[in-house]
Amino acid sequence: MDNQPNHSDSHNYLLMERLLLRLVKKWAAGGDMEDALMAAKNCNMKGQKAILNYLGEDLTEEERINRTIQEYSNLLERLYLSQIEGCISVKPSQLGLSVSYELCLKNLRALTKRAIEFGRFIWIDMESSKYTDDTLMMYLELIGRHHDIGVVLQSALRRSASDLLHLIEVGGKVRLVKGAYHENEQIAFASHDEVNANYIKLLDILFNRNYINNKQVDNNTLKFAVATHDSKLIEHAIGLWKTSKIGIKNFEFEFLKGIRDELKRDLVEEGFRVAEYIPYGDEWLPYSVRRLRERKRNIFLLARSLVQS
Ligand SMILES: Cc1cc2nc3c(=O)[nH]c(=O)nc-3n(C[C@H](O)[C@H](O)[C@H](O)COP(=O)(O)OP(=O)(O)OC[C@H]3O[C@@H](n4cnc5c(N)ncnc54)[C@H](O)[C@@H]3O)c2cc1C
Repeated sequence: MDNQPNHSDSHNYLLMERLLLRLVKKWAAGGDMEDALMAAKNCNMKGQKAILNYLGEDLTEEERINRTIQEYSNLLERLYLSQIEGCISVKPSQLGLSVSYELCLKNLRALTKRAIEFGRFIWIDMESSKYTDDTLMMYLELIGRHHDIGVVLQSALRRSASDLLHLIEVGGKVRLVKGAYHENEQIAFASHDEVNANYIKLLDILFNRNYINNKQVDNNTLKFAVATHDSKLIEHAIGLWKTSKIGIKNFEFEFLKGIRDELKRDLVEEGFRVAEYIPYGDEWLPYSVRRLRERKRNIFLLARSLVQS
């Protein structure tokens, strides 16, 4: 009996869910593909590319994994038919990595085939460190056959500089982020300062090594992405670009939907490639919790709305 939620508990729960949903609307496009395509078109109208992610992670049921593959497969076709400038970004654990390496690789291969058919880029998101080795290994298997595929590295992880050098060596394409997962200190930097310092070190490698290893590069070929909302790091990247031989179209700045919209606009006006990561679907809770954790102010806004309500 004591464990039964009382009326006020369920009222609070509903209220919290509604307030969270309000925040989610800022960060995600909505529940289905039409919402995502609409958000992507909006993005294109502002001179930005769209990176679509169907929300979901740590899937183990065959039916849900297959549904996710089907969704991405249809999405690639719809992006092509609607002539949207955009690509997809997938999480290995939504494609079967929580079940087995082989299943995920098989599913990624199937999606890669569809991406080639429709001339679309695929990003592979990086999840918590328990998946890092497998994710990179799968990426190395795929890059041999398909060049329009990239993988994420996190400056929070101590191993990332060595991973980055190896990926550049084999012609890999990297999106650099700080990292959204809590990791232990043995493998990850604990302080913001260290994570930022490592980000700068990795930017340095990206802007310099990428040129050394690929002298003949098409000016429009994307080679890497700088994905952060941190103005200091973005300014640093622009400084490195100015003294490097990387073309302005060989890299892009990537942002999450709903964050730093003015900065996105300014960068487009300055002639940089800008892309917006747009998640959609019903599985918005883990994604929203990561966004909430990143910024105390978001938790404060949520708490204030709760009190006011
Ligand atoms: C395109 C893209 C793809 C990503 N893919 C991955 C991935 O595959 N794996 C992974 O681990 N992580 C991924 N991330 C998340 C990333 O690791 C960080 O957790 C996230 O970007 C916050 O770090 P930051 O670099 O923006 O710096 P922070 O130091 O967190 O923020 C810098 C400034 O940006 C603004 N800001 C940051 N977050 C918010 C917010 N939620 N709301 C409002 N303002 C905010 C604030 O002004 C803040 O001061 C991705 C991020 C982007 C932009």
